[in-house]
Amino acid sequence: MTAITDMVDLETRDGIAVLTVNNPPVNALSHGVRLGLRDGIKQAHEDDAVKAIVIHCAGRTFIAGADITEFGKPPKEPGLHGVLDLIEGGPKPVVAAIHGTALGGGLEVTLACHYRVGIASARFGLPEVKLGLLPGAGGTQRLPRVVGVEKALEMITSGNPIGGDEALAVGLVDELVAGDLADGAVAFANKVVAEGRPLKKIRDLDDKIAAVRGKPEVFEKFRKSIARRTRGFEAPEANIQCVEAAVNLPFDEGLKRERELFMQLMTGDQSKAQRYFFFAEREAAKIPDVPKDTPTIDVEQVAVLGAGTMGGGIAMNFLNAGYPVTLIETTQEALDRGLGVIRKNYENTAAKGRLTQDDVEKRMALITPSLSLTDARDADMVIEAVFENMDVKKDVFARLDQVCKSGAILATNTSTLDVNEIAESTNRPQDVIGAHFFSPANVMKLLELVRGEKTSDTTIATSMSIAKKIAKVPALVGVCYGFVGNRMLHQRGREAEKLMYEGAKLQDIDRVLFDFGFPMGPFAMGDLAGLDVGWRIRKETGAKSPVADRLCEMGRFGQKTGAGYFKYEAGNRTPVPDPEVEQIIKEEAEKLGIQQREIDEDEILDRLVLPMINEGAKILDEGIAIRASDIDVIWVYGYGWPVYRGGPMFYADLRGVGAIRDRMLEFKDRFGGDAWEPAALLNKLADEGKSFTGQ
Ligand code: NAD
Repeated sequence: MTAITDMVDLETRDGIAVLTVNNPPVNALSHGVRLGLRDGIKQAHEDDAVKAIVIHCAGRTFIAGADITEFGKPPKEPGLHGVLDLIEGGPKPVVAAIHGTALGGGLEVTLACHYRVGIASARFGLPEVKLGLLPGAGGTQRLPRVVGVEKALEMITSGNPIGGDEALAVGLVDELVAGDLADGAVAFANKVVAEGRPLKKIRDLDDKIAAVRGKPEVFEKFRKSIARRTRGFEAPEANIQCVEAAVNLPFDEGLKRERELFMQLMTGDQSKAQRYFFFAEREAAKIPDVPKDTPTIDVEQVAVLGAGTMGGGIAMNFLNAGYPVTLIETTQEALDRGLGVIRKNYENTAAKGRLTQDDVEKRMALITPSLSLTDARDADMVIEAVFENMDVKKDVFARLDQVCKSGAILATNTSTLDVNEIAESTNRPQDVIGAHFFSPANVMKLLELVRGEKTSDTTIATSMSIAKKIAKVPALVGVCYGFVGNRMLHQRGREAEKLMYEGAKLQDIDRVLFDFGFPMGPFAMGDLAGLDVGWRIRKETGAKSPVADRLCEMGRFGQKTGAGYFKYEAGNRTPVPDPEVEQIIKEEAEKLGIQQREIDEDEILDRLVLPMINEGAKILDEGIAIRASDIDVIWVYGYGWPVYRGGPMFYADLRGVGAIRDRMLEFKDRFGGDAWEPAALLNKLADEGKSFTGQ
């Protein structure tokens, strides 16, 4: 075995040169790998004893993509294109031997090879779109030539990989190998040589793309099919245009088009945001003062208290991950209702073919329903999701303290109450943590973990690890009213209401945020969540919200009553503007002495988003969030902030912290009040010409 570089070895077996890539953990296409492949291939080409070449990888996977730490840095020769040309254009057959995941640049390497073999468990995909990019090393040109246009479009625009069996069925691999992969690949290469098979260059294949040539409707239909899912994203469309180029242009011109569009995406804001976010999500898992080797407790049994809106969804997360859950309620009726909702959710998923009936039953069987809190005694982790009332929560935690085993994690799903106060109702505040799930709890990916003053490192480390096991993205925050997400949301809500009184139409306010990339605006969201929730709280606290109060007095609670801020036709969730509501707003504005006027979209957007950024700056200054990127993770996964805009703090950086401050000051001049006073940190960063996220 000869080392070509520290990342690639060459060995000749049975007349076949075997190039082994060894760049743990995922054999990314770092500079050393590209160099090793180039020089190894060259040596193999020059060695008369070599009849064919196999490229395979050591460790757990084939090349799983580009080395994204090299993104944005000056390119280092050799580039991937040159290496691929050498493989494809060389005189000897090259066989890729694939295990693990051949992703992105990894799959593109295999597509430059003349043949591909793999093991059945291998996965094949081009996930670049998920970083706002496209496969820029021929992937968009070669894949459709092998698997056909429709399959290629689906793979490239979703970024989702396919498995070995499917890869064989669609022609992406020539053979699946059982037993040792390298041996199988060498045997396959020898067969190619013995049978005198041609050097199959994908660039020269035409039959599968010819089938779609002159049929633009294939692309139009595809565009329509993904329009909802990809609204606002630039990369999916660029990927489609590349595949169109593959169909309509000669290979080399198609490659050129791919290059152009790749550069456009690579230098654009969306991909920058998506790449930033990729790291932000991983960074959120790191807690500076909780070392990586902090001991965690083994969580095998879980108890969920309350089977209402949140408790049911929370329980489902654990059931999906195979944890037995004791679901505890106060009345049989509430318990039955909660169990019924869980079953119905699973049945709906099964009806869509995403779960088998057997899986439904298995998950339901993991639930132990109970009407006694004592049944939480065997749980390693308890999640409380009972009514949002401090006395109720304190009573529940005091009782949990009596029954739960020592060291069990006691988590509360409170959205507004003080986690420290709840913790103090036990004799083990170190085991208490906030676990703030988002509704619907079985769908939303965010888990805001709230660290109390006494929460122990073990409680934090265990909760972070459990969050991942139940497929959530955790972000650790500190105690304050509304934590990070709702505290910022509150700022946006306040300003949305002001805009409404000042004359902006509800549908315009909502549309501005929808066009920005949110799934919906604040008024449609209010109608979805139910206006009665806030109304009941206002009645208790004596707070007023004249328009919302009047709507509720009229029985307009939102979608569930067919009307709220908007009207809803039966069976239709589309908000319809209602002149009656416009009249109410006008009247209430008059009573408040507010002069109504036309408000342009830029003002609407900035008045909604800038107060969030300002609040984010305060949250950072107070140490409630560990880092600006955690705030972005919270907003993308908890509130639907479009990932292609990175999150509120990244967005502020993109516009420039100084520009954000200037706009705040402009609003302060116009509207007065504390709301537009730039936060200390915003001022500081603006003065120093710095950013929140280091971008
Ligand atoms: P919910 O009213 O739908 O459910 C609460 C359930 O708790 C009820 O079924 C009730 O019977 C049960 N319950 C009350 N006391 C109990 C006790 N002592 N033991 C066991 N069960 C008891 O309320 P929800 O919307 O699910 O909210 C639950 C918690 O989650 C609250 O703290 C709330 O602030 C928080 N939360 C709610 C949302 C949301 O969008 N609804 C989002 C995040 C967090």
